[in-house]
Amino acid sequence: MSGEISDIIERKILEIIKKAGKEGILQREIWHKIDLDSRRGHKILRRLEAQGYIVREPVIHKGRKTYIVRPAARLFIKFRLPPELDDVPCFYCEFLPQCYEGYRNPLECEKLKNWLEAPFTAQLKVELGAKIRHGSEN
Ligand code: SF4
Repeated sequence: MSGEISDIIERKILEIIKKAGKEGILQREIWHKIDLDSRRGHKILRRLEAQGYIVREPVIHKGRKTYIVRPAARLFIKFRLPPELDDVPCFYCEFLPQCYEGYRNPLECEKLKNWLEAPFTAQLKVELGAKIRHGSEN
């Protein structure tokens, strides 16, 4: 599955879970809503749970063990980053949903490495380091 398609599916799943709210939704209902096979769906939900976006609770439904899925607080957090960080390549990267241990290794990413080594970023690190040192002296 390409990164882009996986990203679209994840967004759809997250929207469904967000809509379900505190009540939650049975994971099989998610598969039905977007016509997704359960194997792929389980994999995505496990990843979203590990990333802290959802919570899964085991339940018995019609005599079978399944999970009810609810949004975690992280799903509703709106980040406001300093404008200096607008250019972080990960924010615009098609591989972001797969960029973690076992899939892509950020430590080997050329795009991220180039950004970290760019003159502007180096200056930003110096300024942040100075702020942190100044803060620890107070
Ligand atoms: S580390 Fe590289 S591959 Fe991973 S999200 Fe950032 S830019 Fe994309």
